[in-house]
Amino acid sequence: MSFDSFSFHPRIADGIKRLGYEKPTPIQEQAMGPVLEGRDLMGLAETGTGKTAAFVLPLSQRLLDGPRGRIRALVLAPTRELAQQTHEVLTIVGKDTKLRSATVYGGVGYEPQINKLRNGVEFVVACPGRLLDLVERGAADLSHVEVVVLDEADRMLDMGFLPDIRRILKLLPRERQTLLFTATMPPDIERLARDFMRSP
Ligand code: AMP
Repeated sequence: MSFDSFSFHPRIADGIKRLGYEKPTPIQEQAMGPVLEGRDLMGLAETGTGKTAAFVLPLSQRLLDGPRGRIRALVLAPTRELAQQTHEVLTIVGKDTKLRSATVYGGVGYEPQINKLRNGVEFVVACPGRLLDLVERGAADLSHVEVVVLDEADRMLDMGFLPDIRRILKLLPRERQTLLFTATMPPDIERLARDFMRSP
């Protein structure tokens, strides 16, 4: 299979070239179609399988049209490192789409993150705790989120983020797309999917 079979918009195709990818990995092959269609999806995939581009590319395409300058896609990640990696892929693809991304994680100052959000972004890649802090400070508006991605959901569970994740999901519009990527499927993740996803 090739990336051509997804009929990506030329600007997304340029992003794929910029990333240097020649053909999709198995998770990309399987996930990109449903994500492009706006469906909820659960992906069993570990780091190293190409799962980041499996959601970044189709979501960038979905956000090409529509309003700019507000948070339309939210990616929840367990660690600052993973958030940064995802942000880097979004930034490469964003050169062509002009979709902007901000990272939000703890252990660093609030001001730069607040300023970035204030300047307007369409993607936010966040660790759950700091995101809730920013929502409480009125610096992050989640009321326009169209898509949420739970990346490495089982790791977020292990790190104790489940209550925060549930709180965040309750803040989002009900009418939205939900994607969940996990390497394992413990009962708490199954329950989360049952409570917050639509026939994934
Ligand atoms: P990930 O699982 O998203 O962390 O990706 C793991 C590594 O695979 C990263 O270095 C990506 O740049 C690379 N990668 C992702 N998709 C592809 C692809 N279709 N072709 C070649 N490399 C890829």
